[in-house]
Amino acid sequence: LLAKAPHIVKPLRFILPHRPHLRPAWMIRAGLFLYDHLGKREKLPGSRGLRFGAGSPLKASISRGLEYSDCWVDDARLVVLNAMAIREHGGHVHTQTRCVSARRSKGLWHLHLERSDGSRYSIRASALVNAAGPWVARFIKEDLGQQSPYGIRLIQGSHIVVPRLFDGDEAYILQNEDGRIVFAIPYLERFTLIGTTDHEYQGDPAKVKITEGEIDYLLSVVNNHFKRPLARADIVHTYAGVRPLCDDESNDPSAVTRDYTLALSGLPGEAPLLSVFGGKLTTYRKLAESALSQLSAHFPKMTASWTASAPLPGGEQMSSVSELSERLCQQFGWLPQALAKRWASSYGSRVWQLLDGVSNLSDLGEHLGAGLYEREVDYLCQQEWAKCSADILWRRSKLGLFMTASQQTKLDHYLLQHSPQGARVA
Ligand SMILES: Cc1cc2nc3c(=O)[nH]c(=O)nc-3n(C[C@H](O)[C@H](O)[C@H](O)COP(=O)(O)OP(=O)(O)OC[C@H]3O[C@@H](n4cnc5c(N)ncnc54)[C@H](O)[C@@H]3O)c2cc1C
Repeated sequence: LLAKAPHIVKPLRFILPHRPHLRPAWMIRAGLFLYDHLGKREKLPGSRGLRFGAGSPLKASISRGLEYSDCWVDDARLVVLNAMAIREHGGHVHTQTRCVSARRSKGLWHLHLERSDGSRYSIRASALVNAAGPWVARFIKEDLGQQSPYGIRLIQGSHIVVPRLFDGDEAYILQNEDGRIVFAIPYLERFTLIGTTDHEYQGDPAKVKITEGEIDYLLSVVNNHFKRPLARADIVHTYAGVRPLCDDESNDPSAVTRDYTLALSGLPGEAPLLSVFGGKLTTYRKLAESALSQLSAHFPKMTASWTASAPLPGGEQMSSVSELSERLCQQFGWLPQALAKRWASSYGSRVWQLLDGVSNLSDLGEHLGAGLYEREVDYLCQQEWAKCSADILWRRSKLGLFMTASQQTKLDHYLLQHSPQGARVA
C-alpha cells in the first residue's frame, strides 16, 4: 500500500510503553520479532527495545518500552482514490446513492437506487457485490428479502482530538490494565488523535457517537501514561465509527476475527450475489482480488489481477510527500510551503492538475480560510464528487479542524453559487 499510494500512506513508529501488568518484555519482543519477519517488511525498520530518559513525555515510572513499525493512512482519502481509480478504468461511481431493493430476473439483477434528494432510478447488473459494511446482513434481510449466511458484530471505535500532547513523530500504543488498547497518534501537525476500539455496539451504525464514558476512559488511560495531564476542556473534536466484523460468536469483542469472509450465492443461471462480511483497511485490495476471483466463473472475459503494483490516483510519478512538496515549491516559488505539503499529502501527483495554468497565488481564487482556496474547492467538486462543505472539510480533508464558523459559512456560500446543482446542506 505504501508503494501504491505514497502520498496518503505514511510509515509510523509505534512506541509501546512497558508496564508491570503486561506480559514480560522478552515475550512481547519475541512477538514483535515474528511480526517483523513474517510480514513482508521491505521498507520499514524493524522493532527494538527502548529505555526512556528524563526527556520522555511518559511518566517517570515508565522507564522501558518497545518500538515497532506500521503505517498510517487517511481512510477517507483511500476510499475516494479507489473510487477515482474505478472511474478512470471506465466504471461509474454513484455517490450518495442507496440501493433500496434488488431482485433477480432472467440472469440479471434489477436494482432500485435512490439518490440523496429522494429521486429513484433503476439499473441492471450481471452480478451484485454487497459491500455494505455494517449494513451487509441488514441489506440481505431487508432489501433482498433473503436469509443472511452470517451475522455481523459491530465494534465501536471512539476518538478524541486534543492539541499536540507530545513532541516527535512516533505514535504511542497504550495497553491498559483491562486489556484494552488506546493509541495516541500525532495528527495533522498540531494535534494528537487518541482512540480505542473493542467496545461492542448494538444501535444504528449511522448514529454511533462517542459516549461520556468513553471520553472519561480515554482521558484516564492517557493520564495514567503521560506527564502532561489532559482534561475535557482540551478536547477540540470527537468522532466514532463501527467496525463491521464477521460474527464468529466469540465472547470477547477484542477477540472477534478481523479477517473477512466472502459469501457467494446464486443458483446456476442466476446472477450471483457476493457479500462481504468483516475485513480491514490493510487487506482491502486482497479482499477485492479474492472477491473477483470468486466471481470469475460468471465473467469469462475477466483478465488476470493487476492491482498489486498499480498506483492509486496521485501515487504515480512521486516517491514521497517531502520530495513532491520540494518539487512544487521549486516550480511555484509563490506557493506557501504548508500548502505544498498538504496538497502533496492529499493529492499526490494530481496536484499538477490542480495547479495547471496557475502562475500566482491570486490565480487560486479567494482564500476561504485555513489554506483553502476556491481552486481546491473546484477541484474537489469536479474530481472527487464533493457536494457540500462537510464533504470538503471532513471527508476529503480535515480542514474542518482549522476553519472558523464564519469561514465555513463562506465556503457554504461559495458552493451555493458555484456548484452546478447548488450545494446541499451537509
Ligand atoms: C474506529 C475504527 C478503527 C479502525 N481501525 C482500523 C485499522 O487500524 N486498520 C484497519 O485495517 N482497519 C481498521 N478499521 C476497519 C476499517 O475501517 C473497515 O474494515 C472498513 O471501513 C470496512 O470497509 P467497508 O467498505 O467494508 O465498509 P464501510 O467503510 O462501512 O462502507 C460501507 C458502505 O456501504 C454503504 N451502504 C450501506 N448500505 C448501502 C445500500 N443499501 N446501498 C448503497 N450503499 C450502502 C455505506 O453508506 C458505506 O459507505 C477501523 C474501523 C473503525 C470503525
